Amino acid sequence: MNEDSTAEPAPRIKQRATCPDCAAANGEPHHEQCDVARCLWTGAQRLACTAYDRTTRSIDHDCGQDTWTGTWPGDEYAARLGFWCRWDNGWQPTSADDPNALPNLNRLYTDATWNREERRWDPKPTQP
Ligand SMILES: [Zn+2]
Ligand SMILES: [Zn+2]
Repeated sequence: MNEDSTAEPAPRIKQRATCPDCAAANGEPHHEQCDVARCLWTGAQRLACTAYDRTTRSIDHDCGQDTWTGTWPGDEYAARLGFWCRWDNGWQPTSADDPNALPNLNRLYTDATWNREERRWDPKPTQP
């Protein structure tokens, strides 16, 4: 695993100046209704967060204010953890040296855990 935070992001991680949904600029908070914004408590999509119930207006945690970082949420962490996939009659796991590799977010959500203190994805402890 590459822990060097100064390393260039892999070229297959798409860099965007603004959020594709709400057009927040890099470092700016997403719009309240933004599809892309993550819940900072669970790491999952904020719009779909179970804490956010418009009908009852009840919440069991504060989803926080996610900001656009220039890449799709999770892409950099999937790349850092070496989770890659490619389209080949369905998404198939692959390795970073595959020229068609894209960050494997499905694997990120199953094989990594959201660290809400640090607001990042950490690898799950390996099973004995
Ligand atoms: Zn947004
Ligand atoms: Zn939430």
